[in-house]
Amino acid sequence: MSSMPTIRSRKIAVVQDIPIGRTLKFWEGLKEGKVYATKCKRCERIYFPPAADCPECLASDMDWVPLNDEAEIEAFTYVVIRPTSFQQCKPYTVAIGRLKEGVRVLAWLTGFKLSEVKVGLKVKLAAKTLEDGQLTYEFIRP
Ligand SMILES: [Zn+2]
Repeated sequence: MSSMPTIRSRKIAVVQDIPIGRTLKFWEGLKEGKVYATKCKRCERIYFPPAADCPECLASDMDWVPLNDEAEIEAFTYVVIRPTSFQQCKPYTVAIGRLKEGVRVLAWLTGFKLSEVKVGLKVKLAAKTLEDGQLTYEFIRP
């Protein structure tokens, strides 16, 4: 068990639908500073969080593709009343950003004053290694 549950819980997006061995590329990508999605080899749809199977054409043959890092904020929320595991954090902003590929990503938005955040804001999707070594990704100032 972690002695620092607050930091550990900062990872808000979990790749949970894929057996652990098949997510390796995702975590390796974050280490290299890239955020990977999966792309169906048959119908070419892109999935984020990565999916093992394509719900569209039911194929199980997926490629890993690095996402473009340019995103535009579609929705956001400023979280003041934090969940128990986030009590030690300052209030934070969580946003949904749309990438060029048309994929939507849910992540923390950092590096902006709340007054600057608006729908349509251009941000960058960035892989990040936290102080405890945990890998995550967030939206930052481009
Ligand atoms: Zn497909």
